[in-house]
Amino acid sequence: MDLHTHSAVSDGTDSPAGVARTAHSARIAGFALTDHDTTAGWADASAAAQELGLTFIPGIEVSTRFRGRSVHMLAYWINPSENTALAHRLHAVRESRRKRAQKMVERIAADFPITWDSVCELAAARGAGPRSIGRPHIADALIAAGSVGTRDEAFGAILTPDSPYYVPYDAIDSVEAIALIAQAGGVSVGAHLLSGGRGDHGAEASGIRDLLDAGLCGLEVDHREHAEPERTVLRTMAAHAGAVITGGSDYHGSGKPNRIGENLTSPDQLEALYSRASTTQ
Ligand code: AMP
Ligand code: MN
Ligand code: MN
Ligand code: MN
Repeated sequence: MDLHTHSAVSDGTDSPAGVARTAHSARIAGFALTDHDTTAGWADASAAAQELGLTFIPGIEVSTRFRGRSVHMLAYWINPSENTALAHRLHAVRESRRKRAQKMVERIAADFPITWDSVCELAAARGAGPRSIGRPHIADALIAAGSVGTRDEAFGAILTPDSPYYVPYDAIDSVEAIALIAQAGGVSVGAHLLSGGRGDHGAEASGIRDLLDAGLCGLEVDHREHAEPERTVLRTMAAHAGAVITGGSDYHGSGKPNRIGENLTSPDQLEALYSRASTTQ
């Protein structure tokens, strides 16, 4: 099972059903759809997965902050109701994302030929609303305008946190997110916490231990941005804390080189993770 994928509902490029078709072509048993801060792709992905005989796990990648750093937190089997405290906080995060993206585009538009409307149109053509717009969509608008050649180039030059165009957005405190996910019946897994080269991204080892103490259920160990030494550190910490270890591709369609199924979660770890959910799904 690939426990980390994105559709065009956030910053991937395949439709949710398209992610299911890609998973089927890659001959994996199933996948979790983990779009950033939204569950909007679940229904379509789940229906397509069922038709193709794949296991579908409802997931999300929540934008959180811990000690001044951006921490991505995967969650699975959360209650899909709009009435959980988690759903309310996610709504606020998405609204903050929209305001932030709009501000960034306004700053960039002073120097490059893009507009907020052009970014929204591009995202909408793939099925993402303005509240799901992230830097990858701005990168795509810059590519369409001929200002850069690739998303990577846009991230390197214009969209990095140290650029004058960068604007942060409100994310949920990581410890609060762990509690909100548990309250919503789900399980929390720290995503690519030791990926280097992402600026203010990820957590220190001591921070990871504190998050495990706060109830983080698992650590994403097998991810392309973790080399073997990082994987070993994370595996050891998970073993100490009795936490689950997962793997996922972080597939984004054509938006990133990550191929679906390139990292997987073993059936026993998946079962251990599921046993910690208090879901009725
Ligand atoms: P945001 O959440 O809007 O700040 O944008 C961060 C997202 O950009 C992450 O979820 C990554 O998927 C994506 N990202 C980061 N670096 C790159 C890159 N070099 N190329 C393509 N996508 C990237
Ligand atoms: Mn992404
Ligand atoms: Mn992430
Ligand atoms: Mn991701």
